[in-house]
Order: sequence, then C-alpha cells, then structure tokens
Amino acid sequence: MGTLAGRTALVTGASRGIGRQVARKLAGEGALVAVHYGSNEEAARETLDLVRRDGGRAFPVRAELGVPGDVETLYAGFEAGLAREGCGPEFDILVNNAGVSGSARIEEVTPELFDRLVAVNSRALVFLVQKGLKYLRDGGRIINISSAATRIAYPESIVYSMTKGAVDTFTLALAKGLGDRDITVNAVNPGFVETDMNAGKRSSAEACAELASWSAFGRIGRPSDVADIVAFLASDASRWVTGQCIDASGGSRL
Ligand code: NAP
Repeated sequence: MGTLAGRTALVTGASRGIGRQVARKLAGEGALVAVHYGSNEEAARETLDLVRRDGGRAFPVRAELGVPGDVETLYAGFEAGLAREGCGPEFDILVNNAGVSGSARIEEVTPELFDRLVAVNSRALVFLVQKGLKYLRDGGRIINISSAATRIAYPESIVYSMTKGAVDTFTLALAKGLGDRDITVNAVNPGFVETDMNAGKRSSAEACAELASWSAFGRIGRPSDVADIVAFLASDASRWVTGQCIDASGGSRL
C-alpha cells in the first residue's frame, strides 16, 4: 500500500510540467488526485491517462486562475469531481503549483505584467488556501511550489522572483498559524526544470549547458526531481517539518 492510500489531493497546474509529475507521483502513492488545469484540456487528459495507466485514480478540474471568480470556479469543479468519485468535499493535500513566468528586467516591467504575475502566482494561491482551509482535514498538508529565484538573484525575471518571495513568506506565516490543526505548510523551491515554462531558454545546446552549469550536479532538473520532494512533504514521514522552503535546485549556485 502506498504512503498516501486513502488521501485526497488537489494539485493545481497538473496538466503539464512539474504539476503533472506531482499528480502522477501522489496517485502512485495511492491518493485520489484532482488534476487542475487552466485551459489545456488535451494536456490534462494526458495526465489523467498517465495516472490511470499506472493504476491510479484522478479526475480533472478546469479553472483559469488570476481572473475574477477563479477560486470559486476551481472549488466548484473540485467538489463536483469529488462527488462523482463518491466523496465529500474534505481533502488532505493541497499542492499550489500553477504558475506563470515572465521574463522582464526592472526597466522592462509593465503594470500589466506585474498585475498578471501577482494575480496568478501570489493572489490566487492565497485565496485558494483561504477557501481550501474549510475543507482541508486536520493533519493535512499544504505544499507551495515557489522558486530558487527567492535565494539566487535573478534580475532577468524580477517580478516573477518577487511573487515567489511572497509565497515563501506566506508559507512561513501560514505554517505557524496552522500548527494547532497539525497541518504542515512548506514550500519547494525548484531551480531550472525541463518544462514548457522555460523551453525558450533551452533553445540551443549552449543555452542548455549554461542552465545545467547552475547546478552542482551539472544538469537541468527534471519534474520528477521536484515531485519526489513534494511526495515526501505530502506523507506522514514529513510530520515534523513545517514552515520550510526546501531548495530543489540540485544545489544551484551554491
Ligand atoms: P508549466 O510546464 O508551464 O505548466 C504550468 C501549469 O500551470 C499548467 O498546468 C497550466 O495549465 C497551469 N497554469 C498556468 N497558468 C495558469 C492559470 N492562469 N490558471 C490556471 N492554470 C494555470 O510550468 P512548470 O514549469 O511545471 O511550473 C510549475 C510551477 O513551478 C510554477 O509555479 C513555476 O513558477 C514553478 N517553477 C518552475 C521552474 C522551472 O524551471 N520550470 C523553476 C522554478 C519554479 P494549462 O496547461 O491549462 O495551461
């Protein structure tokens, strides 16, 4: 039996990249997983197929984040999916993974870019947690996907880095506030991971070699490198870990 048998998890941004691998891993450990996505239905279906092929249980939830009513739409879809699975609205694990990047140095930042990054990466996450806390069981887990850009200066994406800094600070304060419910709250901070998000930065062999050189291990991260850490944080084994930002960058720029 897997470490998460009998648990229910909501993974945002699970149609692609890191979120897809997290959904697969948690389902592989026995959790029923809600595969949230924004608009890419085909990708979400692929995630569901992969989970089911491995013998896991999952269902889709569509909701664009960063727009009015986003959190309400998401939980309505989540509850409906749970009901179809014969479950009530309570759940055990919330992985806040959905996010958008935005390359812009300080002189290139526009109010529109700022508002979009804050809306998706910081604001939506806060209100997702706020509403989710009504249904998250005591002893539950909140795992926020942040970025190593909160530790390593990354002026090429200054506002993106800032929105993830907000996630780290939120994680710390929330963890203290939820200790009395035995809910742990942690962040995972990836470095460069091979996903659609940074495909443009991996456009040549030289560019890939440069990104790989950031890590002590000399390679770019894989979604599974991050998903394995999330699975640990979701499990009972992590019960004494809360309020932490776990570097998942392969020792980038140590
Ligand atoms: P990705 O491959 O671009 O996938 C993004 C996921 O988030 C997709 O499932 C996408 O849904 C969803 N999403 C994006 N914007 C959304 C919105 N407005 N509303 C609803 N869903 C939305 O990204 P990734 O690289 O796996 O990144 C996952 C997380 O890791 C992000 O928070 C990112 O900041 C963080 N991270 C990534 C890296 C990296 O190098 N890749 C490094 C550090 C941190 P659709 O498929 O429907 O679009």
